[in-house]
Amino acid sequence: MRTVRDCLAEGRPTISFEFMPPKTVEDERRIWKTIRELEPLRPSFVSVTYGAGGSTRDNTITITERIAADTTLLPVAHLTAVNHSVAELRTIIGRFAAGGIVNMLALRGDPPGDVDGDWVRHPEGLEFASDLVELLASSGDFCVGVAAFPYKHPRSTSIEADTDQFVAKCRAGADYAITQMFFDADDYLRLRDRVAAGGCSTPIIAGLMPVTNMNTIARSEQLSGAPFPAKLAAKFAEVADDPAAVRALGIAEATKLAQRLLDEGAPGLHFITFNFSKATREVLAGVSAQSRV
Ligand code: FAD
Repeated sequence: MRTVRDCLAEGRPTISFEFMPPKTVEDERRIWKTIRELEPLRPSFVSVTYGAGGSTRDNTITITERIAADTTLLPVAHLTAVNHSVAELRTIIGRFAAGGIVNMLALRGDPPGDVDGDWVRHPEGLEFASDLVELLASSGDFCVGVAAFPYKHPRSTSIEADTDQFVAKCRAGADYAITQMFFDADDYLRLRDRVAAGGCSTPIIAGLMPVTNMNTIARSEQLSGAPFPAKLAAKFAEVADDPAAVRALGIAEATKLAQRLLDEGAPGLHFITFNFSKATREVLAGVSAQSRV
């Protein structure tokens, strides 16, 4: 079974797309339409997020299994420690393995409901993502990714502590990392330098989300953990009344960011799609084919 590790070892930047599990019949129709529209771009892998609870968790498993069985794509399943005992996690991991899924993204997850609320470990569960990395490593031959945060994780007391804990998480057995979204390449490069200075060479794939409307900017601080860059915000403010111009600027800026990251040697670009394909396709069409062959 092919792994993300194999893709990264080929030395070309990986291209990947992130989907959310469908909640409704309409969501399901759209995710499949999006998957079929993105499949011809031959991404290195696609990933499916894991919800805070309820039926979407099952949907993550089902959709990931279907991607493995019915498409040419390599699926990565996100998994979190939220509200799961170790025994439940072992069962879920077993289901993924039975469905042929060996590529996982190991996350702690956020407290359900209020993401800023207190983190409460399941009484028989895990505390940190590094514990889930270790559980996966001891459960079989999985290729395991972890999350990275260019602006530090909101709960980390300092950039230094965040870097140390990230490096420890990689040493627990991670094969690669994917960053939270960011909008300034320098923020990614600083993260990469800090991690390298900590003696860690785990490849860090860059997480990107093209701005397609002003709402994305308004939500970006909550999503990325940092204020939207002021200079960029000023450019968007100039066209804020024209949705088509906002979208065009968003695609142009995301394309510039993607190209700079490739030029700087980022090992991969991971697009957060929200189950739509158009913005991702437009950005990739603008990125130099040279960088991707
Ligand atoms: P951890 O690595 O456990 O870190 C959490 C905090 O604890 C950090 O502050 C860290 O520095 C600190 N820490 C870690 N280890 C130690 C230690 N040994 N001692 C003290 N402190 C420590 N959420 C979902 O619910 N579903 C998803 O599908 C999902 N996908 C994501 C994909 C990506 C690419 C990213 C970047 C995030 C995703 N998230 C998802 C969000 C993620 O679950 C949250 O940001 C969560 O709060 C942190 O998860 P983590 O895996 O980084 O946790």
